[in-house]
Formats: sequence, structure tokens, C-alpha cells
Amino acid sequence: DAKQQGRNTWNWYQGDVQRVTEEAVLLRHDLHTALHEEQFELYYQPIVEAVSGHIHGLEALIRWHHPEKGMISPGVFIPLAERTGQIIPLGRWVLRRACQEIAAMLAAGERVVPVAVNISSLQFRREGFLEEVQLALAETGLPPELLELEVTESVLLEGAEQAIALITALKSMGIKVALDDFGTGFSSLSYLRDLPIHKVKLDRAFIKDITTSRNNAAIVQGIITMAHHMDLVVVAEGIEEREEQQDLVRRNCDLLQGFLFARPMPRDAVVGTPRYFACCQRISHL
Ligand code: C2E
Ligand code: MG
Ligand code: MG
Ligand code: MG
Repeated sequence: DAKQQGRNTWNWYQGDVQRVTEEAVLLRHDLHTALHEEQFELYYQPIVEAVSGHIHGLEALIRWHHPEKGMISPGVFIPLAERTGQIIPLGRWVLRRACQEIAAMLAAGERVVPVAVNISSLQFRREGFLEEVQLALAETGLPPELLELEVTESVLLEGAEQAIALITALKSMGIKVALDDFGTGFSSLSYLRDLPIHKVKLDRAFIKDITTSRNNAAIVQGIITMAHHMDLVVVAEGIEEREEQQDLVRRNCDLLQGFLFARPMPRDAVVGTPRYFACCQRISHL
């Protein structure tokens, strides 16, 4: 009967929520251990110049080698860490590690390109973030020009003025800020105008059928043209096909990132690639 059915539905629902919650509790506990046991690693994915394919910079992307579950995607544990607050120590670790790994290359006399670090909005908006960045640079010896921070529009959620002031302060220190995942979320065009950012990164959601969807192509072209008029550098994310590269080159996109060029990989693996070698021949002034 209906009552019975209702109860079953309710039970099923409750069971599901319970399972998800239990998993989250377990993962939360594991995250805590992982931070202490260094189960994390940074991978780096090249960001290349659209026309030449030469490396322009690297984006640091966190990887979790879970002792039992294997590799866990940041798409899974970053949102969880944001809910539990663990993103604060985790984000601090990422920032420090990225600065360390690039500074070490510099100290060894190797050539380097700027590294981009993803910053959660919670981390960005927290008091003392600017000091945290300054400390990471001071303690690792990385020049500020070699650090970029990637933030999303959600940094504006509580207080646009604060976010603008912080980005301005970073900029005056020589640190560039990129607006990540543009095109998803709120994507108000006024953010491009109001935020003193250096770069805008177009999300793969717009790129993935740029060659087949006239509407997507129109949006991408519009954003590129507008961004250029505002002196912003445009990066397209998630390039997998040669046709996508060609299309974006035609549309004057500055930089590209995607599996077509390179997957994220450990620092030493990136540095060992011919692409990295070629770029460093050119930018030996860095
Ligand atoms: P994101 O910052 O937009 O990073 C780009 C994501 O796209 C990465 O996923 C990258 O591996 C993936 N990607 C790159 N090229 C391609 C491609 O050609 N095709 C496809 N399908 N995907 C491509 P990943 O490493 O799984 O990271 C996912 C998200 O997790 C990141 O998106 C970022 O929001 C977050 N994340 C990763 N590392 C960190 C971190 O250290 N701190 C914080 N706060 N968030 C991070
Ligand atoms: Mg990013
Ligand atoms: Mg992105
Ligand atoms: Mg993304």
C-alpha cells in the first residue's frame, strides 16, 4: 500500500544518505592522516602558447595516493576538504610544496617557468592569506614573478571589495592572479571588469564542442575579444583535439592547456619532456 511504499522510499533515502555520510566521515579521517603522512603529491600540467605549443607555465594539481583506495581525484576530496575546513592546512601544503619544488629547480641552476596554484575561495578569503603567501615565498626563495594563483568567481561571494583589495595587493607584490573555470558558475562579465586579474581561464565545458557548436564558438569568441580589450590573457582549458587548437588559434586565444599537449605529471617527468626543453631554450632569461 501507499503507506508501506512511502516508508520504503524513506528508508531507502535514509540509507543512501547514511552511506554517503559514513563515506565522508571515513574520508575525513583519512584526509587527516594523509596530511600527516604525506600521501599527497603535486602533478604539473603544462600551459602552452597557442600557436607554437611552447610551454608558458605549469599548473600544479594535487594528487592523493590513498594507501587502500589508490589514487583519489581532487574533484572528490577537495570539495570534501572544503566542507570540513581541512582545505586550510591542505591548501597551505599545496602552496608551500609548489613554491618549494620550483625554487629547488631554480637553486639547482635549472630553467623554470611560472607555476600556477589553485586556491580555494575559503583559503583565499581567510584572514592572513596574504601573509601565508609572503611566508611561502620567503621561506622557499621563489621569486613572486614565478607564482600565479588561480581563483574562481566564488572569491567574490562574501565581499567583492575585499577580494579586489587582496588581488591588488598580490599584484603589487608581482604575483599574477587568474580567474579559473570562467564560463561556469555565475560568470558575470562585470567580474572581468572589476577584478584586477591577469588571466582568464575558459572552462572545458565551452571548449569541448567548440568545433561543432556555433553557440559555444560564439561565446568563446566573444569572451576572447572582450578579454583582450581589457588587456587580459586568455587560456583555454581541456584541449584534447588538434581541431580545437586550430580553432582557438584562429580565434586569437593566447594560451592552451589540455591532454593534447600533456597530461598532468610529476615535476621531474614534465621537466624531462622535449616540450619543456624546447621552451627553456627560448626563455633562458627567466
Ligand atoms: P582546474 O583547476 O580547472 O584544473 C583543470 C582540470 O582539468 C584538472 O583536473 C586537469 O587534470 C583536467 N584537464 C586538463 N586537461 C584536460 C583535458 O584535455 N581533458 C579533460 N577532460 N580534463 C583535462 P584535476 O587535476 O582532476 O583537478 C580537478 C579540479 O580540482 C581542478 O580544476 C581544481 O578545481 C581542483 N584542484 C586540483 N588541485 C587543487 C589544489 O591543489 N587546490 C585546490 N584548491 N583545488 C585543486
Ligand atoms: Mg585551475
Ligand atoms: Mg579550470
Ligand atoms: Mg575546472
